[in-house]
Amino acid sequence: MEENIFKSLLQAGSWVFVTHFLRYLLFAGIAYVIFYHWKKRYWQHKKIQAQFPKRIKIQLEFLYSISTFLIFSAFGVAIYLLKNQGYTLIYQDIHEYGTLWFFVSIFLSLVLHDTYFYWTHRLMHTKFLFPYFHKIHHISYNPSPWASFSFHPLEAIVEAGILPLLVFILPLHPGAIIIFLFIMTVMNVLGHLGYELYPSGFLKTWLGKWNNTSTHHNMHHQYGHSNYGLYFNWWDRIMKTNHEAYEKHFEKTASRKKEKIGYLIHSPGMNGMKK
Ligand SMILES: [Zn+2]
Ligand SMILES: [Zn+2]
Repeated sequence: MEENIFKSLLQAGSWVFVTHFLRYLLFAGIAYVIFYHWKKRYWQHKKIQAQFPKRIKIQLEFLYSISTFLIFSAFGVAIYLLKNQGYTLIYQDIHEYGTLWFFVSIFLSLVLHDTYFYWTHRLMHTKFLFPYFHKIHHISYNPSPWASFSFHPLEAIVEAGILPLLVFILPLHPGAIIIFLFIMTVMNVLGHLGYELYPSGFLKTWLGKWNNTSTHHNMHHQYGHSNYGLYFNWWDRIMKTNHEAYEKHFEKTASRKKEKIGYLIHSPGMNGMKK
């Protein structure tokens, strides 16, 4: 009997691990193949930092992401157990709360996650916690898409903490959780892409004022103590933690024209250092 329970938990854990890993492999992989190999020359004028990260850094990003998914899987199994015991607000029948709630719940999950991320992120940047929790993520001064889940196991526990919180606060359909995880992965890969794809002037638009860009998180990796937000820019605006040169840096890359090829060859980069 006990053996059966152990076996089914192991199966559930493996399934959660595979889905996390495949989602990462899909989005980070597509981004990496396009921007770091296949269309590297075509997009080079949109590269935020001139250099490309060293192979060893990319390998570390990949390995730490795998360890993150192991921790995410343990949390997934815990949620699965809590759900079976009836402790969560997860519901199966989409009609129970209606289609409108299905979409609203995804949006609210993103808003709550953004708030959770901003404040835990700031906490992990304090002198006391940084070396134990967040230093690994900042090994990547010049991140590649593979850095999107590159966390120390302690940070991975913090990052995983959002899902158990959400399923206790919001009635969530499993489909909404899956869509939330997809959006989370896409936005995470975008933040670590290393390229700015939004057009010049984007930060002056309503969308650009309230949403983060790849430059925003790239600058967080490059400079540290600023630009803490995840999806949205409101907490950085409210708390005045946007980097003072954010808009300038964004425009520098976003307005760079394609004809200016030689950028990667001749430019010493934003800070002139090879990372
Ligand atoms: Zn950070
Ligand atoms: Zn990052």
